[in-house]
Amino acid sequence: MTNQSTLDHVDPEHLALFAMRTLDAEEFAQIHAHVEDCAACRLEVEKVRGDLGLLAIGDSPLAQPPAGSKARLMAAIRNETTHVSARPSSLWKWAFACAGTLTVALIGIVLLQRGEVRRLHQNIDTMQANLEQERAESQQARQIAELLKSPNSIRFTLVTSQVHPQPEAHTTYDQNKGLVLLVASNLAELPTEKTYQLWLLPKSGAAPIPAGLFKPDASGNAQMLYAELPSGAEAKGFAVTVEPRQGSPAPTTSPLLVGLVKS
Ligand SMILES: [Zn+2]
Repeated sequence: MTNQSTLDHVDPEHLALFAMRTLDAEEFAQIHAHVEDCAACRLEVEKVRGDLGLLAIGDSPLAQPPAGSKARLMAAIRNETTHVSARPSSLWKWAFACAGTLTVALIGIVLLQRGEVRRLHQNIDTMQANLEQERAESQQARQIAELLKSPNSIRFTLVTSQVHPQPEAHTTYDQNKGLVLLVASNLAELPTEKTYQLWLLPKSGAAPIPAGLFKPDASGNAQMLYAELPSGAEAKGFAVTVEPRQGSPAPTTSPLLVGLVKS
């Protein structure tokens, strides 16, 4: 064990452990008190610390400890052990010499393992980061799939708000009754002297037949039922033009909207 007398020096393995700060508080305090008063032991501690520092740097391949530092550490411990002549028996000397050598070996192993442990920790950190990323990605994929197939999902189509929605019209025509229903939306407002006019485009290729006048409401929507088409007129489609307020017998502007049956 440690020797509290300043006459007897601290044994080298405890000095080494002291230098490594691996002693419990009580032992540390005892040796610290001795080292404070004893220049020889203090010097020994400094040497061990120096060698430990070099060995620790030896984790990096760029900075191997100078050849002999480990041997010097071992030799210092051996010298110190044999130099302590006040030991009661040669068995103790032998025991302490063995302990000293063992300590040096353990220090070497600890220092080597410290580098390996650090590398393992880095590998584990990298693997954990990868695992977290994969977990997040698969969770996102699952959320997307669930959202797309859920009956509760509501779909919106978003377009640039800078452009007016495009006008469109739907006609439903019964040629036997000469009846056409128009439903239109997104129509621009017209000046009072203008109107929209619907035209039946005959399948025969004859001139367009007037099919009613209409104006949109404030929201741009319009609905018109026109019942005065000649019965039996086959239509290839319908068109909408802008005309004077009372309407025209024939289109005077090019069609704003055209819908043709698929032939
Ligand atoms: Zn001493």
